[in-house]
Amino acid sequence: MIGRSPLAREFWKHGRVAACPIYDMHGHMGHFHSIYFPRADAASMVRTMDEAGVRLLVFSHHAALNSPDLANEPSIAAVKEFPDRLRAYCMINPNYPEQVARDLAAFSNLFPQVYVGFKFLSDYHQVALTDPRYAPAWEMANERALPVLAHTWGGSAYDGEAVVREVAERYPQVRFLLGHACHGAWHAAVALARDFPNIYLELTAVFDDRGVIEIFVEEVGSERILFGTDLPWFDPHHAIGVLMNADISDADRHNICHRNAEKLLAPILPDLIA
Ligand SMILES: [Zn+2]
Repeated sequence: MIGRSPLAREFWKHGRVAACPIYDMHGHMGHFHSIYFPRADAASMVRTMDEAGVRLLVFSHHAALNSPDLANEPSIAAVKEFPDRLRAYCMINPNYPEQVARDLAAFSNLFPQVYVGFKFLSDYHQVALTDPRYAPAWEMANERALPVLAHTWGGSAYDGEAVVREVAERYPQVRFLLGHACHGAWHAAVALARDFPNIYLELTAVFDDRGVIEIFVEEVGSERILFGTDLPWFDPHHAIGVLMNADISDADRHNICHRNAEKLLAPILPDLIA
């Protein structure tokens, strides 16, 4: 069925809607091995954002994930190039503790002009979220009640639902964004969001499974769901299309597309979030 709500019709007609800006809370940037991205540099990604009405993207460059020699520098450079459209997560690579120490030492000077929080990719780095090598970053995020976006995959020993529960109990002040919402373990994600008021379900790749958005809205509420695409991996128009076709209200869609992100980011970026 094609969504026929007033908001959906606006999106079908124009491809973007000024009254419903999108905050994409999960992006990357740059080339990646074994896959071709036609629009992976900062300027091209901003062009994609413009086409879909994406107001702000919070991202971490692939170099920060895979190239410890470059680490977060390409993320920082991109935000400085597009300060009105981009903010970065400071990526923590726990396999390089000396780099983690440098990243944490630099964090305060770059917050919030560049960074709004941290990004953990436990399944890539094969270090569990509970590992002591992440602790300094968790502790800083907890002290300052900062957003942390962590990839979470159902059943994973690194960032599955049991691991997420353990760190959520340990760091109750962190604004904990479950990237991919414990992909596949949808009901475990619901239970986590119900048990921890500071947990948000982030939708990157959730769009590949029919009916999950309806479950999340029904069982958790749309106030705890955040839009995300993994740009440049997925196109925002695909994600927006799924949301517009989901069996939820336009008020829910506004929450997911922008209101929740605005509430989360307004204290951090008062000048950018009107
Ligand atoms: Zn990611």
